[in-house]
Amino acid sequence: MALDESWFTEPMESEGTAFSLKITRKLHEERSPFQLIEVYETTHWGRLLLLDGAVMLTQRDNFTYHEMMAHPVLFTHPNPRDVLIIGGGDCGMLREVLKHDSVQRAVQVDIDERVTRVAEQFFPELTASNDDPRAELLFDDGVAYLKNAPAGSFDVIIVDSTDPVGPAAGLFGPEFMQDAYRALRDDGLIVQQSESPILHLDSILKELYGVMRGAGFKKVVTLSYPVVGYPSGWWSATMAGKGADLTRFREEDAAAKPFETLYYNAAIHRGALAAPEFCKKLFTDQ
Ligand code: SAM
Repeated sequence: MALDESWFTEPMESEGTAFSLKITRKLHEERSPFQLIEVYETTHWGRLLLLDGAVMLTQRDNFTYHEMMAHPVLFTHPNPRDVLIIGGGDCGMLREVLKHDSVQRAVQVDIDERVTRVAEQFFPELTASNDDPRAELLFDDGVAYLKNAPAGSFDVIIVDSTDPVGPAAGLFGPEFMQDAYRALRDDGLIVQQSESPILHLDSILKELYGVMRGAGFKKVVTLSYPVVGYPSGWWSATMAGKGADLTRFREEDAAAKPFETLYYNAAIHRGALAAPEFCKKLFTDQ
């Protein structure tokens, strides 16, 4: 069926796949100093945020991504107080992080202030926690920020970046990871959006494991979960630490969590740690 102009389509030529959403109208478009920012209204998925034509989120399904990038790492850390978010300009990740009462400081560093200003206008449910006194929003290159971060200044680092191209490429590189290792405390953890197990296992995921190990992280695990709007719909988060077993987490705290989620719970956390057979060699290469 030929798609008429009332559809948005994100093709992925290299994988012979595409993702489409039925749209009603374009609500916003601007070219920031870093990327093209667009917002569409869709028929069934709420509003849609694109950066350089790539789906970042829809109002209907962004919860799986924001919850699975925030809660597993925070419930794996024994007592997360100081959290750094690199990227995350739509502020959905910040909102999830601030649900944890142990968090005393959440610093978000996105290179593009315009993403946050557009989110404030079109996705106010995601920016609802921005006025929390624990939140600190900075607009800078995450690579530069981390280079200057004092040693041992964070318990958790969450890299909620665009794909490893353009300004985000450096966030998947060895220098960044070495700076992350230094900026984390001894029981500190980093988690990074690590693309799709079915599309990127032998490329981006394999390289990320090498970069994390090369930076000195002794333990690396990948959790997989659905993100309807991302290429293939099957996404991942790769977590790394300096020694503790990352397959163990504060299960009782997760089961008794005092805040609402739509996807994350202790059983989902445990299940997401299971490595699909074709990923086992990489994912359980502890
Ligand atoms: N969930 C999305 C994904 O997986 O593609 C990411 C969402 S978030 C909007 C991605 C953010 O990364 C953008 O706001 C972009 O400006 C930011 N970003 C890209 N490169 C960056 C860098 N070097 N430092 C800080 N933020 C960066």
